[in-house]
Amino acid sequence: MSSSDEEGGGEEYLFKIVIIGDSAVGKSNLLSRYARNEFNPHSKATIGVEFQTQSMDIDGKEVKAQIWDTAGQERFRAVTSAYYRGAVGALVVYDITRRSTFDSVSRWLDELNTHSDTTVARMLVGNKCDLESIRDVTVEEGKSLAESEGLFFMETSALDATNVKTAFEIVIKEIYNNVS
Ligand code: GDP
Ligand code: MG
Repeated sequence: MSSSDEEGGGEEYLFKIVIIGDSAVGKSNLLSRYARNEFNPHSKATIGVEFQTQSMDIDGKEVKAQIWDTAGQERFRAVTSAYYRGAVGALVVYDITRRSTFDSVSRWLDELNTHSDTTVARMLVGNKCDLESIRDVTVEEGKSLAESEGLFFMETSALDATNVKTAFEIVIKEIYNNVS
């Protein structure tokens, strides 16, 4: 994260945000939906880039989010400390159609807490809410876990774009509020 005066007097912010959660919950598609408005039904574990940058305007200031995606290493439970280094925001994602991914959330939160030394703005994300007919985790369960852990909460769909922009922007605004 940095804040510096630019020529012209404006201020610029750069925030590192990480996306974590079990394999195939939709992390890469949430990022591609937010950063490029794209969805990949057959996305491979590795998309070949470490992060994407997306800007938004807050109070007339340009705020850049550098959003990191795992390259599939979460399958081996070996997301490295470098991945978390300097992160000021995190989206912890589960798949509302697979309870095992919801059960993993506490492990991901432990890992996040172990590797982050600052106040990290954290959002619990229940993804794939377009798949209501095969839902396996209720909205109430998500809400209640988020409340007990002090996280923001949102259900999203990277497929139909429900709440994706909102989820990222809530985290970015919270980080901004924490530093400004
Ligand atoms: P990652 O391993 O967490 O990065 O997950 P991916 O983004 O690669 O997605 C895993 C699979 O779930 C892919 O087949 C995606 O097309 C699918 N997927 C991701 N997000 C959604 C969603 O919101 N709705 C539905 N129906 N499928 C999704
Ligand atoms: Mg991925």
